[in-house]
Amino acid sequence: MQFDLKRLLLRGPDYVCETFESDLSGCDWPGYRVDKPVSAEFSVRIKRSELYLSLRASAEVQGECARCLDPVSETIELEREWKVREDDLAGEDELPVDAKGVLDLDELLFEELVLEGPSLLLCSEDCSGLCPECGLKKAAGCTCQPAEEEAAPVDPRLAILRELLD
Ligand SMILES: [Zn+2]
Ligand SMILES: [Zn+2]
Repeated sequence: MQFDLKRLLLRGPDYVCETFESDLSGCDWPGYRVDKPVSAEFSVRIKRSELYLSLRASAEVQGECARCLDPVSETIELEREWKVREDDLAGEDELPVDAKGVLDLDELLFEELVLEGPSLLLCSEDCSGLCPECGLKKAAGCTCQPAEEEAAPVDPRLAILRELLD
């Protein structure tokens, strides 16, 4: 969704609040997907030629556990506010505003969700991951024993040393 901040500033009203849904499934998310449309609420209040922007959103993130590859979904709650002066509108670099003063809300939503999103998806904090031997989940199914030192074949040179020590 595009929002004309400049026009609002020139013609009013002093306060606008809009709810919208944004399909961000095609965006380049870092390590997860956002398949469902993101519901968001955007509001602007104008006070003495200053714009007070507020953005709230809730997005469902889908992906795989980084350790066991199980499907994982997580909800990101976003709540952000900005203050923009009229003079800054054209040269605003914190917000995706074009030269005409139009704000790209989808882009803003994407940028903020990436900042807020998980750096690593895990099914649980203590997920023990996959067994390197059999590829099964360690928590369920794998019966491999951790490789013990005694089971490893003894180097013949070490065997001689060991005999000498005995
Ligand atoms: Zn896991
Ligand atoms: Zn195993």
